[in-house]
Formats: sequence, C-alpha cells, structure tokens
Amino acid sequence: MSQSDRNSAANSLAGKRAVITGGGSGIGADMALAFAQAGAEVTITGRREAALQAVAEQHDGIRTAVVDVTDEAAMVALFEKIGNVDIVIANAGAAESAPFAKTSFEQWQRMLNVNLSGVFLTLREGLKQLNDGGRLIAVASTAGLKGYAYVGAYCAAKHGVVGLVRSLAAETATRDMTVNALCPGFTDTPLLAASVENIVTKTGQSAEQATAHFQSTNPTGRLVTPAEVTATALWLCGPNSGAINGQAISISGGEV
Ligand code: NAP
Repeated sequence: MSQSDRNSAANSLAGKRAVITGGGSGIGADMALAFAQAGAEVTITGRREAALQAVAEQHDGIRTAVVDVTDEAAMVALFEKIGNVDIVIANAGAAESAPFAKTSFEQWQRMLNVNLSGVFLTLREGLKQLNDGGRLIAVASTAGLKGYAYVGAYCAAKHGVVGLVRSLAAETATRDMTVNALCPGFTDTPLLAASVENIVTKTGQSAEQATAHFQSTNPTGRLVTPAEVTATALWLCGPNSGAINGQAISISGGEV
C-alpha cells in the first residue's frame, strides 16, 4: 500500500455515522465538512439553525438538529432519534472571561453547564448508542491542562472534561471503543474572535494587539488552525487508533 493509499484508507469513514455538537461554526464546522468528505453521515447540532444550515449546504451527508447541549431531555431525545452511532464529538463550548473575584455565580454555572455538563450529556447519551469500534471525542482545551488568568470557570470546566474522559476510558477500557480529549491551544475561530473583541472593549487594546497576545502564547507564534484539530480527530477515528484511549492530546505547538 502506497503512502497516499494508506492515508486515504486511514481517513475513510464510509458507512460511519457521526454526531458533532457545536457544528455550526469554528472547529465543529470544519470537522463536519472533513468527516462528510471522508464519507461519514454527519449530524451537527447547535442552537442557531441558520449557522447549522449554512454548514450542511456545503456538503452532502450533513444533517442538522437544533439542540442545546445543556438541555438533558433534548439531548436524550436527539440520540434516541439518531440511533446507533460510530463517532461522537462533544465539541460545543463557550469561553467567558472575568477576574476571579468578579466572576458571578451565574457565569460560573453557565461555563460549567455548557463546557462540562454539555460534554457529560453528549458522552453519556452517545455511549448508549455507540457501535463496536466506536470513538468518543471531547474537545477540551489547553485550558484543561494548565491555568490561564481571568478564565477560572472555563479552565475548571475544561479540566473537568479531561478528568471525565480519563475516568470513562478506564471504565470502558475492555470494550471495543475509545474516548479521548483534544486540547487545542488558541485556535482561529469565532470563539477566539469574540475573546479578542472582549479584550478590546475591556482594555482599550487594539484588535491587532489582542490577537498578537493569543498568537504569542503559542510557541509557534501563530494560532492553531481548525484543520489541525480536525486532522487529529480524523486520526483518532482511523482503523489503527484503537490503542489510544483516555488521552488528553495537546494541539498547541508545544505550549503544553
Ligand atoms: P465557536 O465557533 O464559537 O464554536 C462553538 C460552538 O458551540 C458554536 O457552534 C455554538 O453554536 C456551539 N454552542 C455553544 N453553546 C452551545 C449550547 N449551549 N448548546 C449547543 N451548542 C452550543 O468556537 P470554537 O473555537 O470552534 O469552539 C469549539 C470548541 O473548541 C469549544 O469547546 C471550545 O472551548 C474549544 N476550544 C477552542 C479554542 C479556541 O481558541 N478557539 C481553543 C481550545 C478549545 P450555537 O451558538 O449555535 O449554539
């Protein structure tokens, strides 16, 4: 088998069914398109129907479902409706910042709800429907592996995701499946653009200065691309990745 044949075989997901939460933008949208291109039947979820439709229109084989990941009943109904799945990617998330002493309890709960409870519900319901050889993936963050200032609630939630993945991997180790966390560094998506806007509003820095701050945190001096996160997810879903389990994989140019 030539190297290019090997690559295309490794990425072939024909006949596989995937669910990706937060698939209407950023990393989730990039994953949806790549997984559909690899032949998977993909369902993307999120709260904004128009954003989901705009992604689905770009490739055959992408379905949409308007579901809030923090709504337990809706998540249960989603997975019951979809039925058996091969790949579940808990990607939906949001990042709000505030100095610790000014973090309201509402903000704390909002960050834990979407970033941690949303992943819990996605993985729990996904696991119930998972076929043999299945893959569960949570998009955590380098914020799940180290602390960053002014995002205590987000960091706590993402550390929680890494712990949840490690626990579930231990619990399901003898089953024919894997569960892993992806930990991107600062990545070029609408979430990062919102963080830049927030810094501009709160500190008076220019957008260029705020962006440069995020770029310089990455040892490569540039933002991670959604495609780099997607490539790691595709690799985890390949046929020879069954021994990679319970890992928190840093995609950060070596920051962590
Ligand atoms: P993004 O474009 O803002 O994507 C986040 C997605 O999550 C959106 O499509 C959003 O769709 C969905 N979402 C948010 N709250 C939701 C809810 N309650 N229910 C359902 N869907 C919800 O940003 P992104 O950077 O691609 O983020 C994807 C993941 O990567 C997140 O978990 C984020 O924490 C993680 N991450 C990002 C970076 C970065 O620097 N960008 C770095 C490390 C990790 P709706 O608004 O339509 O619901």
